[in-house]
Amino acid sequence: AKRNPGQSEFIQAVQEVAEDIFEFIADKERYHEAQILRRIAEPDRIISFRVCWEDDNGNVRVQRGWRVQNNNSIGPYKGGIRFHPSVTESVLKFLAFEQTFKNALTGLPMGGAKGGANFNPKGKSDREVMRFCQSFMTELYRHVGADVDVPAGDIGVGAREIGYMFGQYKRITNQFTGVLTGKGLEYGGSLIRTEATGYGAVYFLANMLKTKDDDLRGKIAVVSGSGNVATHAAEKLTHLGASVVTLSDSGGFIHDPDGINLEKLRWIKQLKNVRRGRISEYVEEFKGATYHEAKSPWNVPCDVALPCATQNELSSEDAQSLVKNGCIAISEGANMPTELKGVHVFKKAKVLFAPGKAANAGGVAVSGLEMSQNSARISWKEEQLQQLLVDIMDGIHKQCLEYGQMGGGYCDYVRGANIAGFKKVADAMLAFGVV
Ligand code: NDP
Repeated sequence: AKRNPGQSEFIQAVQEVAEDIFEFIADKERYHEAQILRRIAEPDRIISFRVCWEDDNGNVRVQRGWRVQNNNSIGPYKGGIRFHPSVTESVLKFLAFEQTFKNALTGLPMGGAKGGANFNPKGKSDREVMRFCQSFMTELYRHVGADVDVPAGDIGVGAREIGYMFGQYKRITNQFTGVLTGKGLEYGGSLIRTEATGYGAVYFLANMLKTKDDDLRGKIAVVSGSGNVATHAAEKLTHLGASVVTLSDSGGFIHDPDGINLEKLRWIKQLKNVRRGRISEYVEEFKGATYHEAKSPWNVPCDVALPCATQNELSSEDAQSLVKNGCIAISEGANMPTELKGVHVFKKAKVLFAPGKAANAGGVAVSGLEMSQNSARISWKEEQLQQLLVDIMDGIHKQCLEYGQMGGGYCDYVRGANIAGFKKVADAMLAFGVV
């Protein structure tokens, strides 16, 4: 904490990992001697820069942009870009740290990074977003590259923003390379990238239930968020026979006891991606649903829960309420949505709990596959990619089981994911010596 004053999110993320790693390395001198955990928790570099742009009224606006390159021991830096007013260096450091472990778990050669800006795309015109993205890339381009650092989307950065940034990169460098992932299909994007994070989080959930001879059929699911991850998690839950009864945004949550079916989900995607509206509008369109302003959905009784909005959206009280209402499994679609005390509640109750770094790795995994397709200048078929996503999520689940077994049939997936991810990166770092 002394080294990183005021960086509460970053300290929280490191603490969560350190709890497990200290135990794991207690009898392994080589990791101690080389100070591996300390080295992973000190980013390779942090680039911070001014992003200056002009709004539609001709006012000059100034934002701060960052790229945190945490670790490239097992592959080029890789991680999303977030545009949201809550973005700070601490948030991006925590995300880049987590990304390092997550990317290792996918089994693909990718290091960990994260970037973004304290820019709020909400209420901005397309032109304003374009000018901001171009200005952001005008600085970022010198720090990234297909073999150096490959950013992707995250909160506030979807297909539109990636398009503007890729266009600007190409314009400045005169190179058409796989420098970003999450690209449009017309210019080097991969099939199923959009769906991959949400689908993957549900595959992971199904894998956990399978260990208890259970599945998703007939389960009531509570989901938060209504962006890329949330809507696709809801879609896959519905495919597998669960009934999704909630979704949310930063204004509040909607509860639809009849279930948010595929047709309603299509309407929500249109609302969020095209009209850029609020989730509260849902109750005007679909009767029987209710809107709960400034509340999160964790008090709604359910069998499974998927926090898919943002960090620290699920407190220890929320965790207690989920457990009390009989929730048997939680899969984190978002990054670190559960507060550390909430994680402890789930562990104590011994419910199935999948941390984001394992459960939401499907997105970056397909981003890794997008990089492979770009390097080879080919596009793989949808069925092939769908199968690869299933296989990768299976592989991550197996690694968690390998390192997370606590006896009595209980698997601590947080511990499993932390140790498996750490081991791969740490062993690569040991091979490089003191660097
Ligand atoms: P989107 O921007 O598509 O959606 C984010 C959703 O979360 C929106 O519904 C948004 O509501 C809500 N939200 C954002 N910030 C807050 C907040 N402070 N309080 C309450 N609600 C909030 O982002 P994604 O779906 O891509 O990302 C969601 C989470 O998943 C993030 O934690 C991200 O890091 C993680 N993730 C995403 C991946 C991806 O492939 N996209 C990959 C792995 C992890 P509103 O519209 O009101 O802002």
